[in-house]
Amino acid sequence: MSEYEQRRRSVLNRLANLKADLKVEGLLISSPANIQYLTGFTGSNGLLLLTPAESIFFTDPRYGLVARANITGKVHVAKGPLLVEATKIIVRKHLRKIGFEPSWMNFEQYEQVRKQAGSHASFRPTGGIVEELRSIKSPAEVLKIRKSVMINSEAYYRTLKRFKLGLREQEIAAELDFQMRVLGAEKPAFETIVAAGPNSARPHAHPGPHRLEANELLLIDMGATADGYTSDMTRVTFTGTPSKKIRDMYQAVLEAQLAAIDAVKAGVTTAKVDGAARKVLREHKLEKEFVHSTGHGLGLEIHETPRIGRKDKTKLQAGMVITIEPGVYLEGLGGVRIEDTVLVTERGCEVLTPTPKEFVYL
Ligand code: ZN
Ligand code: ZN
Repeated sequence: MSEYEQRRRSVLNRLANLKADLKVEGLLISSPANIQYLTGFTGSNGLLLLTPAESIFFTDPRYGLVARANITGKVHVAKGPLLVEATKIIVRKHLRKIGFEPSWMNFEQYEQVRKQAGSHASFRPTGGIVEELRSIKSPAEVLKIRKSVMINSEAYYRTLKRFKLGLREQEIAAELDFQMRVLGAEKPAFETIVAAGPNSARPHAHPGPHRLEANELLLIDMGATADGYTSDMTRVTFTGTPSKKIRDMYQAVLEAQLAAIDAVKAGVTTAKVDGAARKVLREHKLEKEFVHSTGHGLGLEIHETPRIGRKDKTKLQAGMVITIEPGVYLEGLGGVRIEDTVLVTERGCEVLTPTPKEFVYL
């Protein structure tokens, strides 16, 4: 059995174990990342109907050849909307209750399938099943994430070597993206963040025309997608000699990040990991300036379950890959965030990101 078939089997096992009132006879999967996870398909138009009896993959004629060659199970090439085709088959096969992914079906689509199926079948929101499976990475997936992490860090290192004052944020971002691709990445995993000076106080700044000056913070948040898998890292440097206030801020964030990493271990709730970072920042009176959660899972997508936030009760499990990224943002002055990609193990964790975390003065 291929890895994809095993994963589809795991989804069906979970469907079989749903409580009676949530039971469905099959699952319609429309999330592109979930489809990729279960079939290997990476095109832009696909839909998967999974039932205990069979797996039917729907796509349009552009992808017919590649889907038939690579995807095990039935492949159905449709000229019209894939959902219409899938609903036809659901009705024809007398499937009565079908689960769908509520985050991946819009209201118009939902109304359309409901109308089309009429009294023959009902559709029930059945989300999160594939996402939960995806949160535990297989050894083969961890290898791909390691590769992505290495490419990402090397691209950062190469770009920093070429750094000079006067470069625009946009130019630095373009160089980072260029180096990633040269090193074998398919693309950046998200829009690379390069934020200098006061811009660094905005956690999701877009690189702009600002030219780097002496005595500024420079925040770079970047990730690569390699073999389909993502990585995520943030580093902050300073162009010149930072003031005590900025050095203290950096030190506090670094301590918070190390404390959170220390808390990572299979069996621990993600809220506890978040709390470890928050506690350190509270001691430095910077807790209010930490305006986001401590981290997130990653894999085929840059943001996956689990979330590492204040109220998240998910228990970490060995094989999860998460980020640890506390940050502090002072309006007008700048921001510091330090982020690593981390593999959860039974006894603790392995920090995959190799880039050093000492405060670097450019
Ligand atoms: Zn990031
Ligand atoms: Zn992140």
